[in-house]
Amino acid sequence: MTTVDLSIVGNGILGLMTAFELSNKDPNLKIAVIGPADRKGGASQASGAMLGCFGEITDQTFVNDQAEKRFMMAYDAHKRWPSVIEKLNSLVPKEHQQEINQGTFVVLNPCSGQIESDSFRELLSALERLEEPYEEIDPRIIEGFNPNQNLRPLRSIVMPNEGSLDSRRFMSIVKSLLEQRGVQFIEQKALGFYPEGSGYAVELENSETVQSSKCLLAAGAYTQDLLDAHPDIADKIPHLFPGVGFSTNIEQVPDNPIRKVIRTPNRAGACGLHVVPQSDGSLYLGASNDVYLRPQTLPMTGIVHFLLECGIEQINPALYRSQLLKTRTGNRPVTADGFPLIGETSMEGLYILSGTYRDGFHKSPVLAEVIAEEILGEELTWKHNYQPERDLIPTVDKEAAIKVYLDHLIAAYYEHGWRAPKISSQDATRQIAEEKIRKFYDTHGFEFGISAEILLMHELDSKPEETVPLLKRIFLEKESLTPVA
Ligand SMILES: Cc1cc2nc3c(=O)[nH]c(=O)nc-3n(C[C@H](O)[C@H](O)[C@H](O)COP(=O)(O)OP(=O)(O)OC[C@H]3O[C@@H](n4cnc5c(N)ncnc54)[C@H](O)[C@@H]3O)c2cc1C
Repeated sequence: MTTVDLSIVGNGILGLMTAFELSNKDPNLKIAVIGPADRKGGASQASGAMLGCFGEITDQTFVNDQAEKRFMMAYDAHKRWPSVIEKLNSLVPKEHQQEINQGTFVVLNPCSGQIESDSFRELLSALERLEEPYEEIDPRIIEGFNPNQNLRPLRSIVMPNEGSLDSRRFMSIVKSLLEQRGVQFIEQKALGFYPEGSGYAVELENSETVQSSKCLLAAGAYTQDLLDAHPDIADKIPHLFPGVGFSTNIEQVPDNPIRKVIRTPNRAGACGLHVVPQSDGSLYLGASNDVYLRPQTLPMTGIVHFLLECGIEQINPALYRSQLLKTRTGNRPVTADGFPLIGETSMEGLYILSGTYRDGFHKSPVLAEVIAEEILGEELTWKHNYQPERDLIPTVDKEAAIKVYLDHLIAAYYEHGWRAPKISSQDATRQIAEEKIRKFYDTHGFEFGISAEILLMHELDSKPEETVPLLKRIFLEKESLTPVA
């Protein structure tokens, strides 16, 4: 049995950054980070680690105060990353020092739907408003970028202050530093946790236990499994879905490598298409996002085909000859309302940090600071309403949610090569889809504005007997909620 002050269940970016923050604040705190060495199914190990604050903007980012506040956390992280890297570099040997690969190209091509242009417009407006540097460019100057001409960008910008890290290298360096500081890494899956004495016992796969006075659940989308054994609190916490993402590392084109992030705006129910140069000389190509009922560790063949085809056609056809070096499937933790879970539960000393969806890597310095402050009983730098046991936070009402869903659906069709039939129209298809989604809302009595991602969950059609009861449990009791202005 291991005994520590704090056990952190989950060894993704949030577990690591929280341990880093806590060990900065209190070097005497005994911490154990629990999680399998391969991080199988974890989001961070599959992530592109774009430090995407502005690049993640969509037409929903500023839709109301709650949504804007969520963006401001990303903006705060954007400003902090250079000093996070500077601090880390001051603590590690030269060969472990790293740099943010600054510079992100955002290309708006004709492969998606109207949502992509709307998001691009919102992005430019936010850059102007916050006086963030950017420049409209001719995409032909982008190194390594040579899309098929019929898919060439209509507009392109470069944001010199938005960049990327190498996710896997970053985590391995933080882990080594924490080990030097005495943080224990227990490379096991936790089977569950239960209150014991004045703290918690975490039961491991190898039958051992970790005893601690405080326990932080930061197991990404798998946090839901751990909570399900405690329905008294789980029922009060917005459900965590896995946003399953496929990504891959491929060879760069030898005589024309990509040197900076190239990405589209976010697309239908997903992050956009993006490529991120890696520290080992390879190229990260990402990423899909499909919400499922249960985390997945292998991708669907269709998704693999789709992502590779997008990369080859929209980034550079020469990538057709690149070797596929590594494939990864990760589960983004997505809450039912899209807002994170941060803080202590009604079980004293039990904390949750999750629900970060698409930009948890980027936001990790801020999130780690906030949870570390709460664990140590300090005043919070960030006042938030993301405490785990809470009502769902609505952003849009049912009517707006139906519109967003239909916008995403039509965009998804186009992204997958759809051609609207000439004897009919895209509007006719939209109308059929609208009737279906309205019937879905009405039959089950949903009033909450459910996100497009959840409504696009393919298990809604393929496994309604499992999906619908879960959605009813999650959303029906929230009927009285109306969107915050
Ligand atoms: C394909 C893809 C691309 C992405 N790209 C970006 C990006 O460019 N920028 C960005 O900011 N964000 C990105 N994200 C989102 C980001 O990765 C997540 O928001 C973030 O990594 C979540 O971190 P986490 O530590 O909460 O969860 P995770 O990274 O999922 O970590 C949880 C860890 O807990 C472990 N675990 C699971 N169950 C147990 C258990 N029972 N016991 C012990 N350990 C357990 C897992 O192995 C895992 O290592 C991407 C995600 C994906 C999937």
